[in-house]
Order: sequence, then structure tokens, then C-alpha cells
Amino acid sequence: MWIRLVALVVVPLVGIGVVAAPSFRRSRAIVAESQEIDQRVVRLNALLELRYALTTELVPTEGLIRANEFGVDAEQASELLGFDVASRLAASRITVDRILSDPVVQPMQLIEEIERSVVAARASVDGGTAIIDEVHQIYSEAIDALTEASSAELDETISASSTSAGQVQGVEAAAFRLVGTFEFVRTGSDEVEALFQLTVLTTDADRRQLRDQLVALRSMYQRQLESMRRIDSPAISSMLASIESNPDVIAFDRSVDAELARDVTTPLDVSMLASIFRAGFTRFDLFRELLQIATGEATGLAHQRQKEATTAQRNEAITIAVLALVTSLCAIAIAWSLSRRMRHLAVRAEQVSQGMLDGPRADEGGPREIAVVAQALNDTVDNLQQIQAQATALANGDLDDPSLATPGAGMLGASVHATVERLSQAWREREQLQERLAYQADHDLLTGLPNRKFALEALGIALANARANGGTTAVLFLDLDGFKQANDAHGHHMGDLVLRACADRLTENARPHDFVARLGGDEFLVIAEGVSHVDEAVNMASRLIAAVSLPIDLQATTTRVGASVGIGINSGGVVSSSELLRDADNAVHRAKRRGKGRVEVFDELARAEQAMQADLEKALAAAVEHGDLRLHYQPVTDTVNGQLQGFEALARWRRNGQDIPPDVFIPVAERSELVNDIGRWALGEATAQLARWTAAGVYVGAYMAVNISGRHLLSDDLIGDVSSALDASGLDPGRLIVEITETMILSDTISAVAHLESLRSIGVRVALDDFGTGYTSIGQLWRLPVDILKIDGSFISGLDAKTDQAIVGMMIEVAHTLGLTLVAECVETGSQHEALRELHCDSVQGYLIARPQPPEELLANTLANQPLAGRSWTAN
Ligand code: C2E
Ligand code: CA
Ligand code: CA
Repeated sequence: MWIRLVALVVVPLVGIGVVAAPSFRRSRAIVAESQEIDQRVVRLNALLELRYALTTELVPTEGLIRANEFGVDAEQASELLGFDVASRLAASRITVDRILSDPVVQPMQLIEEIERSVVAARASVDGGTAIIDEVHQIYSEAIDALTEASSAELDETISASSTSAGQVQGVEAAAFRLVGTFEFVRTGSDEVEALFQLTVLTTDADRRQLRDQLVALRSMYQRQLESMRRIDSPAISSMLASIESNPDVIAFDRSVDAELARDVTTPLDVSMLASIFRAGFTRFDLFRELLQIATGEATGLAHQRQKEATTAQRNEAITIAVLALVTSLCAIAIAWSLSRRMRHLAVRAEQVSQGMLDGPRADEGGPREIAVVAQALNDTVDNLQQIQAQATALANGDLDDPSLATPGAGMLGASVHATVERLSQAWREREQLQERLAYQADHDLLTGLPNRKFALEALGIALANARANGGTTAVLFLDLDGFKQANDAHGHHMGDLVLRACADRLTENARPHDFVARLGGDEFLVIAEGVSHVDEAVNMASRLIAAVSLPIDLQATTTRVGASVGIGINSGGVVSSSELLRDADNAVHRAKRRGKGRVEVFDELARAEQAMQADLEKALAAAVEHGDLRLHYQPVTDTVNGQLQGFEALARWRRNGQDIPPDVFIPVAERSELVNDIGRWALGEATAQLARWTAAGVYVGAYMAVNISGRHLLSDDLIGDVSSALDASGLDPGRLIVEITETMILSDTISAVAHLESLRSIGVRVALDDFGTGYTSIGQLWRLPVDILKIDGSFISGLDAKTDQAIVGMMIEVAHTLGLTLVAECVETGSQHEALRELHCDSVQGYLIARPQPPEELLANTLANQPLAGRSWTAN
């Protein structure tokens, strides 16, 4: 860059130089010319001075030589000539010597020669050996040579002064005036010389020749005087005027006129000599003065011109120097400002390249190109900053950052923006997916309720709150009653609708801040915080049961389900959420066991009961294993003729001398596979008993009904167990009846039906126990593989009041239509018996006929193959 900046400085300087050079050269030429003119004029002046000095030396010299010839001494000659010859000679010689030694003329060869000849002439004069003609010859030749040299010098001066420079400044005019003056003075001087010669010439011929010469000089002088008068120079004119008015000059002119008028042959009057010489010398001196004025004028002008030219030259040099300085300063200023901006730009660009985007912005001022670059740099930095902000926002996952909304400039900005868009899109999708997954992880998709996991978390939080604030939290475990049946009856899709309807009803009927969740299947959970008393939770549960139990509109039909609720409550003692949930679970099981549609609270009592039941279960398991259970048999007779038809085997357990009723231990057994063991045992025992009786010839045509738990029915063991019992006893399958409760069939209809069908296929009959307590409508019976219906004891007790007669009558009628046999349970009175007979019930069973009894007692109280009806049976 610096090379260009230097060029920036140098080029204008060269331009200035080129433009100024002619003028500068002209000034220099003028100076040189003026100096030359000056020198020439000085030399010319010296040459002329020498010429006149030689003339004035010649006059006394010749006078002295003539005096010698005439034998007069110097004093006499001086008297005669009217001037002191010796002193004038000495003065003339001094003048001549001074000029000869002047450095202005010294180097000239001419001067050297003149000096030599003059020295020789003087020696001859001073030695008295001089011959006048020879001396005259020497001086005349010297004077002529000087005249010639002066002319030449004058020509040179003219030509030197006739250059353009000289013309302008009047030097040429002065030179011409000098020439005129020179000619005039020479003519005047020649006149004086000629007159002096006339005074010393001896022969007439010489004198006549000289007179002619003088006449010619005279007329030339007059002409030249005329032109001198016209010269336009005040100094010369005034000198000329003083010359013309000078008495000696006038006297000299008269002398010349007189001399010319005089007869040539007459010798000159000697008395005249003194005045002629005096006038001659005076005129001579005046002419010299005039010449000096003319030369002085010329040299003065030349000097002035030289000075002016020098001044001009100096001014030009100063102008050039000032211009150069200004140009340089400007260039330096520009260069400095440019380089400052460029340096600033370079620093900023380097910062940007090192990633420092937050520095000060580049100055956008200055020359256009630099401004454009600065602007571009700033724009780039802005872009980079935006991209950086976008990248940071992305890195922080802040997709709402405003920087991401606007695309940066250019391709990079666009592609970054596109990437940002893609990334944010992917990000959003991922977030949505995560939200969905989180929701799915916490929610039941069918009902939209929180799921078990979420419920446990919520319960944990609720309990922590309760611990911190001392409140009471109740957990309501709600299990739908009859959902399986509804599901089987209407299909899965309808089952889903039922669950959704229940979920909605629970949400609507819970308190606003209660947490309602679906645990799975037909199980729901309500977490109720801030419960004041157990009764509040129970009321809430009852309300929920009522809401769920209302008819549910399915697309074409309506259905109903019920609900049982178990309540767990954190009253006193620290409980974990899983403990509380287990409590509620236990409570709901008890509610189910105790007859559905109920609310059970898991309290301390329940806890004690549970402990007791656990104890019971253990003991029962041991009893089963040790064969401590027994079977009692209750006869079933024909309603009409009272004949014995069969027996129902009922399990009995005497523990520690105390009879535990089946209603107590059977549900305990049903909680595990234990109930299957009991069933297996009962099947074996009952069939074996009947086989023994048969072998003994008693109750030969009677059948044996064995109660089978739903759990056992659904297990894959039942068929094998039944077959084993039949095989072991060798009993005709047609003499075995399996009693199943309605609710058990409905809990898993498909398996139950399949198993029952298998049993029937081998000839075993099936009785549906406790009919009328469940939800099976009479119309559904035809689908069930049953042979016998056992009307529940609750209907029978109502027969006395004749309230349930219509219902029981209808049951019997429909069952008969379906080809089923009817057995009435718990017949305790004769009127009941009578009513059943009137209603055409096939068989009766109950205390009226006989209590369940151990086989030996039964046998003692019964006569084989005797009709039982109408006989009075007592417990003992
Ligand atoms: P269940 O099958 O309905 O049996 C009839 C119940 O009615 C018997 O009670 C019987 O003693 C009782 N009973 C009979 N006549 C009358 C009467 O006139 N009045 C009244 N009030 N009750 C009468 P139990 O023996 O206490 O059995 C209760 C229940 O225990 C049975 O009801 C049955 O469901 C179950 N159970 C009994 N033994 C077994 C068994 O071996 N296996 C299974 N799985 N369950 C059994
Ligand atoms: Ca039964
Ligand atoms: Ca029964």
C-alpha cells in the first residue's frame, strides 16, 4: 500500500514539476542571459576604458617624444601644450595598468599582446630612444584592436540581449542605446584624436589627409548627435545636454571649425594648443562619462532583470516546494485516514475470524469502497450473531426463542433457518411424543382416567400431605359387580362402553378434588383427602355405588352393573400407599363375599378378622390334609310323594371342639387352591359314601349332590377329579350332581360352560345353586348347561307370606318349559311345602324334611327306600 501512497505523493509533484519546468527554465535562462549581458557590458566597458586610457596615454607620450625631437624638456613642453605632460602621462599609465590587470579582461589574448607592446613602447619612450611613428603605430594598433574587440563584444551583447527575456525587460533597448552611444562616443573621440594629431603632424600631406578625415568625422558626429538626442533615456539625454552645453566642448567644436577653415599649409598657432588640448581632454572625459552612463544603464537593467528572474525563480521554487509539501501532507492525511480505517477493519475482521462477534461495529464512514467493506463485515457479523443466537437457542432447547423465528440473510442464513425449522419440528414432535408417552404411562387409554401407577404416586403424595398436615385420607376401592356378565352378554365393545360410563359417573359423583383412577379390568380407585370421619367415606362410597348402578344406555339396549366398595383409611398409625391399597382391596373382597353392592371398611376390626382368617386358612389347610373334615348329608325328597331322591353333601369342620360353619371356612378356602382340595375330597368322599350305601343296599336309587366352588369349576382339574371319584367309587355318573352357584358360572361363562358340558357329556348332572340371588334372568337359563335349578332359601321363606309365590311360580314354570328339574331349599314349614307342591316344584330340601346329618345318624333315622315325605324329622 505504501508504494501506492508514495506514488500518490510523487505523481502530482512530478506533474507540478513538468508544468513549472518551462517557466523555471525560462527564469533560469533569463538569469543566465542577464549575467552574460552583465559580464559582456562590464568587459565592454573595460575594453572601451582601456582604449581611451591608451589614447590619453598616447597624447602626452607623443608630446614628450616631439619635445625630445625639438630639444625641449618636459616642463617646457607642458607649458607649450597647456597641460602637465609628465603627470598626465603618469596618471594615464596608472589607469592603463589598472585596466590591464583587471580580471574582467585579463584572460584575453588581445590584452596580453597590448600589454607587451605598450610596455615595450613605454621603455623606448622613457629611455629616450623612441621613434614617434613607431610608438604611434604601436598605440594605434592597440587602439584599433580594442575598437574591434569592443565592436565584437557589443555585437555579442546585442545578440545576448535580443532573446525574449531581454526584449521584455528593455535590456535589448539599453544595449542598442549603448551601441548608439558607443558609436557616437567613438566618433567624438576620433574627432578629438584627429585634432590632437593635427597639432603634432608635420607634413602637409598628412595634415590634408587628416583634415579630410576630420571633416568626415565632423559630419558623422553631427548625424550621430541628432540620433543621440532622440534616445529615450533621461540619464543619457541629460548627460548629452550637459556635454552640448559644456564651454570646453563648445570651445573644442569652435577649434575644430577654425582648424577646418584654416589654410592647411599654415602651421598651427602654438598659443592655441593649450586650449585645444584642455577642451579635448574635457570632451574626452565627458564622452567617457556618457559611455559609462550608457553601460551603467545596460548593466543596471541586466542586473535588475537578473534579480527579477532570480526572484521569480525563487518564487517558483518556493511555490513548487509549498505545493509539494501540501500534496505530500494531503497524501499522508489521506493515507493515514485510509490506513487507519483499513487497520480498524483488519482488526475487526481478525476478531470476527477468531469468533469474537461482540466487539464494536466497524466504522461505516470514509471512502465508499471501505464503507461497503465495513458494511458487509457488519452485516456478516449480524448474520453470524443471529446464527449464533439460533444455535444457542437450539442447544438450550429454547424453541420459543425469538431469534429462531427470523431467517438470517443469504444462503447460509436460509439453510441454517431450514435446519432450525427441521430441528424444531423434530424437537416438537419428540416433545409431543414424550408427552403422549408420559400421558400413556400415567393414564388408562380407554377411560382417560389415571392408571394404577399414577394412582399409587398420587396416593403417596396424598399420604405425605396427610402426615404433614394431620388429615385423614380414604381410599375407595370400587369393583364392579356383574361386569363380566354384561361383557359376556353384550360383547367386548359394549363392555368398553360400560367401563367408560362408569368412569364418567365416578368422576361426576366424586368430590371435585378427589382423585379417580382405573386400576385395571373393572376395578376403580378414588382417593379422598381431608375426610373428617369414616362415615363420610362410607356415604361417598354408597353414592358412587348408586351412581354406577343406574341403567347404562348401550347403543341398542340398556344394561346394569353394580359395584362393591372397599375402603382403606389412614386413621392413626403410619401406613404406606401400598398398605392402604391392600386394605381397600381386602375390604372390597369382603364386600363381594358378603353379598355385593356393599361397602366394607377395612378398619381395625377388619384387620383382626383378616388375621383371624389367615389363622383359619392355615388350620383349614391342615385339617384338609389330616382328613379332619367331614361330610353331612341332607336328603332331597319328591314334593308330591315325599320319596327320597338324593342327598346334598355339606362339609363340616370341627375345630378344637367347635363347629366352624361352611359359610365361614368355605370363603376362606376359596381364597386359595384349598377350595379345590376340599372339592376333590368331597367328591371322593360323597361318591364313596353313596357307593357304600348302595353296596349295603340302602338309598339304592338316590343321587349325591356335591357343592363345587366356582374356582374349582374353572380349574382344569375338575373333570379329572370328578372322573377319579366316579372311577374310585364305581358310581354311575348319572347318580352324581355337581352344584354350582350362579355367580360362579357368570364370572367366566365360557370356561364354566365348557367344563359343565364336559361333565354332562360323561353323564354327570349339573345343578344351579342359590338360583334367584344372582343376576341371571330366567330367560338366560336356556343357554346354561344345567339340569337342576335350586331355588334359594330366601324365596322359600317368603312363601309363607305368599309374597314370593308369584315369582317362585314363574321360576318353576319357565324352568319346566326349559326341561329343568326344580329343587326348593330351606323348606322349613308345612305351608311352604304345601305351597311348593301347589306350584309344582319337583323336589324339596330343608329342615322340615331332614337336617344335614352324618351318614351313621342319617342311616339310623332313615329306612332305606322309604318315602320321606310326611315323616317327622328332628335334628337328633
Ligand atoms: P348351600 O349349598 O345352599 O347349602 C344349603 C344350606 O342350607 C346348608 O347350610 C344347610 O344346612 C342349610 N339348610 C338346609 N335346610 C335348611 C332349612 O330348613 N333352614 C335353614 N335355615 N337352613 C337349611 P350349611 O351346611 O351351613 O352350608 C352352607 C353353605 O356352605 C352351602 O350352602 C354351601 O354353599 C356351602 N357348602 C357346604 N358344604 C360345602 C362343600 O362341601 N363344598 C362347597 N363348595 N360348599 C359347601
Ligand atoms: Ca348346595
Ligand atoms: Ca344353596
